[in-house]
Amino acid sequence: MRTVTLPSGARVPALGQGTWHMGDDPSRRAEELDALRTGIDAGMTLIDTAEMYGGGASEELVGEAVAGRRDEVFLVSKVLPSHADRRGTLQACRASLRRLGTDRIDLYLLHWRGGVPLAETVEAFEDLVREGSIRHWGVSNLDADDLADLPAGAVPATDQILYNLTRRGPEYDLLPRCRELSVPVMAYSPVEQGRLLGHEALRAVADAHGATPAQVALAWVLRHEDVIAIPKAASRAHVEENRAAADLTLTDEDLAALDAAFPPPTRKQPLEIL
Ligand code: NDP
Repeated sequence: MRTVTLPSGARVPALGQGTWHMGDDPSRRAEELDALRTGIDAGMTLIDTAEMYGGGASEELVGEAVAGRRDEVFLVSKVLPSHADRRGTLQACRASLRRLGTDRIDLYLLHWRGGVPLAETVEAFEDLVREGSIRHWGVSNLDADDLADLPAGAVPATDQILYNLTRRGPEYDLLPRCRELSVPVMAYSPVEQGRLLGHEALRAVADAHGATPAQVALAWVLRHEDVIAIPKAASRAHVEENRAAADLTLTDEDLAALDAAFPPPTRKQPLEIL
């Protein structure tokens, strides 16, 4: 599996696993655990969760999936903006650690920007790094002007943002800005929660490769060497299909066809959020 290097020098797989809405339905639990473990076995060892997802149910599911193999995975979780003051961040992190059944989160993100000053949340993150509860901190849903409001010298390990063929706005300014800062972007909803998959242009490219639309959508996000993709897949079949996308290289002709169907931005667009 190709890796992406964080500003610290740590390397993470370019293709990870999302978990929003996983852990919500007890009747699907066995299949979800199997999907996550299949992904880990296949090298998709970066797993993204959040205290928000299912009110902690996703973190508990992830904790169960990685039990006994914690050192194989790179765990990402997120603090809600409403908890992101100095004290609340520490408390939220401890609760996430408990649900995840671990003593450390590899990357802890501010889920989106709220009312707490960014500098205060960053101080709390730095406290957590010092005590060993988290290894890295980062942000999510921050646009280029929000990044400029981070305290001087504070470099997030990533900005996790909505980025896929139908959400190309970040290419105009946010991706270039992150590149200047050497901050890799983590693309969430890379297949637009499935809504993208019926698109005719995507299917045509997929057919030319003997691939599926989901694989082309993921390969398109992964065409940047500093972008990580975290598709959510709740079945072994979807996980295996997604894993193969990391080995699919799109040609210049494919990229041109996709540009025609999903035009790149020509002006600033505010960062979209799901
Ligand atoms: P995705 O774009 O990853 O889409 C998930 C949907 O696509 C699911 O319905 C899944 O089905 C389906 N799918 C996955 N793989 C395939 C495939 N190979 N073929 C057909 N369908 C497929 O959307 P998400 O919104 O879940 O985003 C991914 C992750 O990003 C989240 O789970 C979460 O971890 C993170 N996220 C972060 C946000 C933030 O604010 N920071 C916001 C949104 C997401 P099935 O489940 O049946 O496999």
